[in-house]
Amino acid sequence: MPDKIFYKIENGERLTFEDGLELYRCKELPVLSFMADYMRRKKKKDNVVTYIIDRNINYTNVCVDKCSFCAFYRPVGSDEGYVLPYEEIDRKIEELINLEGIQILMQGGLNPKLKIGYYEDLFRHLKSKFPQIWLHVLSAPEIDYIAKVSDLSVEETLIRLKTAGLDSVPGAGAEILVDRVRTAISRGKCDTDKWLNVHATCHKLGITTTATMMYGHVETLEERIEHLLKIRDLQDASLSKYGKGFTAFIPWNFQPDNVPLGTREN
Ligand code: SF4
Repeated sequence: MPDKIFYKIENGERLTFEDGLELYRCKELPVLSFMADYMRRKKKKDNVVTYIIDRNINYTNVCVDKCSFCAFYRPVGSDEGYVLPYEEIDRKIEELINLEGIQILMQGGLNPKLKIGYYEDLFRHLKSKFPQIWLHVLSAPEIDYIAKVSDLSVEETLIRLKTAGLDSVPGAGAEILVDRVRTAISRGKCDTDKWLNVHATCHKLGITTTATMMYGHVETLEERIEHLLKIRDLQDASLSKYGKGFTAFIPWNFQPDNVPLGTREN
């Protein structure tokens, strides 16, 4: 059992890079679970756990990138490329409402035909038709790309999207926030600094975001810890400066079926 680490947790001390590695190498799942649960109860004293019902909507699958872990995208010009019509998006939201859902998570590829005006019109339409639905939408790579194709700064883009109805931003596209890994698995997606910059700008503008990690491909354990520390550093900075930051951390493991990265020998 990593006693030293538990002592730190009990005393509210920050864990270091080395502590993170030790936890990753610890094979005693009950011990790790105990420490995680201890921390959760310490931070959440009322011991109430909540959930919401939401729905993912992928508004376009057209993408200029070619991430080797992605089975979703279609290149520009593909017969299988789509942009969902409003009627289809509306129908999906009506189904969600019938199930008492309250939020949509809407994301898509980096589609060069969709500039800022497309998103402003769409969000305004959704907010006027479904004012009760929380728009948890886009991702750092999409926002960075919309800014680029619309000839705007990231901050200008976010101000316009927020004005049109964006409520919060999901943490997708983080994969592993280390550029060695990002260039190995993606082609033109935003780099680590740009991903962090989009989230920092959201927090500055009062927009909460989430953070993700896709693990289990070409990254090392050290790079996983580096990823976690970058997110923790930004969370510290955002909460101290703006009182807003990440509201959740969502890790998921790489799915190797039907993607080029899955057939590569790592
Ligand atoms: S940017 Fe997103 S949609 Fe495009 S290839 Fe990468 S993961 Fe797929």
